[in-house]
Amino acid sequence: MSYLHLKVPPTRDTRLRPCNAYGGSLCNLVDGQKTGCLSANGRSFTQATGCQLTLSMGMAASIPNTVVIYHGPVGCGAGSLALSGQSKESQLARGNDDAVGRVWMSTNLSEVDIVSGGEKKLEAAILEAERRFRPHAIFIGNTCVPAIIGDDIDNVATRLQHRVNARIIPLHCEGFKTRFVATAYDIVYHGILRYLLNGERDREPILRDEAAQIAYEQRAKRTVNLLNVGSMGYVDEVELVRLLNAIGLEANVYPCFTSPEKFVKVKDAALSISICATHDDYFVEHLKEHYGVPYVLNTIPIGTDNVRLWLLDVADFFGLREEALKVIAVEEAELNKALAPLKKAFEGKTAFVSTGEIRAGAQACMLENDLGMKVVGIRAHHYDEFGEIVFESFKGREDVAINVAANQPFEQVNLIDRLKPDVFLGHGNSNVWAAKQGVPTLPIYGPNNSYLGYKGVFEVATRLERILANPNWYNTLGETVELPYKKSWYEQDPYAYIRQDGEAA
Ligand code: SF4
Repeated sequence: MSYLHLKVPPTRDTRLRPCNAYGGSLCNLVDGQKTGCLSANGRSFTQATGCQLTLSMGMAASIPNTVVIYHGPVGCGAGSLALSGQSKESQLARGNDDAVGRVWMSTNLSEVDIVSGGEKKLEAAILEAERRFRPHAIFIGNTCVPAIIGDDIDNVATRLQHRVNARIIPLHCEGFKTRFVATAYDIVYHGILRYLLNGERDREPILRDEAAQIAYEQRAKRTVNLLNVGSMGYVDEVELVRLLNAIGLEANVYPCFTSPEKFVKVKDAALSISICATHDDYFVEHLKEHYGVPYVLNTIPIGTDNVRLWLLDVADFFGLREEALKVIAVEEAELNKALAPLKKAFEGKTAFVSTGEIRAGAQACMLENDLGMKVVGIRAHHYDEFGEIVFESFKGREDVAINVAANQPFEQVNLIDRLKPDVFLGHGNSNVWAAKQGVPTLPIYGPNNSYLGYKGVFEVATRLERILANPNWYNTLGETVELPYKKSWYEQDPYAYIRQDGEAA
């Protein structure tokens, strides 16, 4: 699928044809995705969704020794204010004592610039970033306005490259271009592949025989790329590296919180190991196609079932299944012993999970299979071909409400009102709505907490036990806060505004 010859990679809308509007059973979702008919679904009413710029720049800014330039009106960078401290903390946790956090600038386009063009301001910003910070790379995040008026950020980058030491990386992450914010990951990986892998951006895809030979040689090295995500805590990286070490592998972690100069080594690994297909499929496929690095991409190691699947996928590639099975047996026995005293707290309890598709499926599976809870609803931001494997254990389960929605709190509050779960696991924004309905919440991820591997199962269990033991704060919130929706909305079908392919909006 090589797109590296393109300045702008395709959006997820055209590349994967995912779905972002669905309500119903899992079977219909899986079948509809396979036939492609769900990708045309939409809503006749929609609340705000995310902007891929925010996600792209968040990922880019996690990479140390870089500056990110928001090319657009100053408001487009507002999200960076809140995340600056978190970025520094995450880099410090990984041993970068010189961490300064997110370094970002804005070209602050005005109404006059929108008429006369913003390229001069972008040039000035690049030179200023170089002068002030001497970064290893400068990411330019293009926003809607310069894309609409036709600023050529690639041309600016090419013109200025010989005047600055930093590698200039244009990112075409304008919010209006896609309904699927996960396109943001492809955009950043596209920039890394084209501009950071040391001038090899014009390399042609390799031949199949050559790939086989490279894979054979690299397998002997037993060093792998472990691909992280920006929201992942260092504790989770440590846990996954521990498991890989236990079966005899060495791991280098990319792309978040890793210095740009280290990226050249990514193409020398024996295997790329993803923890999330939504995040990594574009990158691993290109690494395979251009550098012969194979990959595993099946699942996220959350919950014992998916940790086992993830580790065995990796082990099988190296012929280490026996070693992996021994590690798994010891770890699962220890975990089960640790979970035993907690399990009583989860008996008869129900849960609702809301997050990206891969994490949603695996986390729901963990709640049922490891803790004995009952999942009553799963909400994924989108659904595509990578979802089926993590939703496997919910096939045929008509008792689980499946909703595909990015944000859309009006649908969520209706579902929560009907299903009345004992606990809600979701992102910060969706947790707020559930909490205001009186439902105890647990953040589905967080840089300071553990979620992945065996350690993650235990830590999520202990936090859930604590929340369920004392839901008083949430109960009080539910009794005192009034949501902005009319009673009549709660009586309607939560999916009343979802339009299937071909239906009039
Ligand atoms: S949607 Fe466009 S204008 Fe709005 S924040 Fe994103 S890039 Fe900026």
